[in-house]
Amino acid sequence: MDTKEKLIAFLDSKVKDFSKISDKIWDFAELQFKEKKSSELLSSVLENEGFTVEKNVAGIKTAFIASYGSGNPVIGILGEFDALSNMSQKSGVTHKEPLVEGAPGHGCGHHLLGTGSLAACIAVKEYLKETGMKGTIKFFGCPAEEGGAGKVFMVRSGCFEGVDVAMTWHPASQNMVWEDSSLATNQVYFNFKGISSHAAASPHLGRSALDAVELMNVGVNYLREHIISDARVHYAVTNTGGIAPNIVQAEATVLYLMRAPHISQVRDIYSRVCKIADGAALMTETQVETKFDTGECEYRPNIPLTKLIEKNLKEVLPIANYTQEDISLAKSMIDTMPSMDGFLHKLEDKKLVEYIEETGICNGFIEGTNGLGSGSTDVGDVSWVVPTAQFTTSCAACETPMHSWQLVAQGKSNLAHQGMITAAKTMALSAFDILQSPQVLQEIKEAFEKDFSQEKYICPIPEEVLPGY
Ligand SMILES: [Zn+2]
Repeated sequence: MDTKEKLIAFLDSKVKDFSKISDKIWDFAELQFKEKKSSELLSSVLENEGFTVEKNVAGIKTAFIASYGSGNPVIGILGEFDALSNMSQKSGVTHKEPLVEGAPGHGCGHHLLGTGSLAACIAVKEYLKETGMKGTIKFFGCPAEEGGAGKVFMVRSGCFEGVDVAMTWHPASQNMVWEDSSLATNQVYFNFKGISSHAAASPHLGRSALDAVELMNVGVNYLREHIISDARVHYAVTNTGGIAPNIVQAEATVLYLMRAPHISQVRDIYSRVCKIADGAALMTETQVETKFDTGECEYRPNIPLTKLIEKNLKEVLPIANYTQEDISLAKSMIDTMPSMDGFLHKLEDKKLVEYIEETGICNGFIEGTNGLGSGSTDVGDVSWVVPTAQFTTSCAACETPMHSWQLVAQGKSNLAHQGMITAAKTMALSAFDILQSPQVLQEIKEAFEKDFSQEKYICPIPEEVLPGY
């Protein structure tokens, strides 16, 4: 058995152990910045495996870094473990039925994400231990991916200093690499303050904060024509100032989410939106205050590292350990979802199409990229400071949407566990290639230096904004 075969065999022999961990995190289903039990479980497993664990990093109680080995290269693997609100769902059933009404659930598969990354780290540790090779493997316990930008705070506090490469993955319903960029974001609250009065008896004394919010939204809707077409501006009125129409609203708040392909474009749009807010305040004689919520840089994939991951993902596919039970679960799940004909038509590999039609599982490598182009992720900020690559594996029936009850229902299935182990194998093999060959790392680093030769990372979140506030 060569080393790569050994790494694969090691991970295959531990499927049950790792599945137990991910199932527990599925049960915990903890929301952003509150992932106490999930973080504790992952860090204690790594501690027992001989990793040195640094807790409470970046001022976040549930963030941690577990390291094993010494010297360079330093390979980082990122793990997430936060759940989504209101996504509670019974496991293994093919209809929508919450486990606990209104409770959180793992609608984005982060229980698998954290555990798969942990499994990869443990496999690499076994290799380092056995060979006595130089090199460090680091698991980054990254909380609050879902709207909390946990990794941005970790980047800001220097957690990734000295790390040579960072890898991560995401559970999905297909095996693909992520070669696209994502959209950079700024999310900001605009709080307007006016003067309350009786809307009929003394309307002339009132200054309406709600009017200001409405005028601001109108202004921003006119702005849309004069910003780049790839930008996105969304808003939600989070405080209307009350429910009584006969009281002039003394306060109102609107939350803006601005996105664009490059963080500098987001900054530009944000400053223009601020001018519109000032204009709305001026028109209504109200006051406006901004409260910065969160921000992320765009994801900039390191291409040589992405190619390395692609090579290894192809090497560990197809997944051989599906059961009849997996197939019937996948097929019944597909019956609850919109038609996947559109997806199948796009596939060139006709054998794979046949396999999917027969089993409901996308058990092959999908060429192309996982199109994060219209989404955003806090992995983006990591990619600015460390050469970074990410990919997805098939952890659910083909075309299962993210953030859906169907994904939660499949989260403890063998389908999910096999996808998780496939991700672990891919990252362990890629880490092995980097440890083995200075040339591989050299290419990765050169590409990174070229990509960022003209730009320096500026944290999109202002210094005074703390995690979770
Ligand atoms: Zn996710």
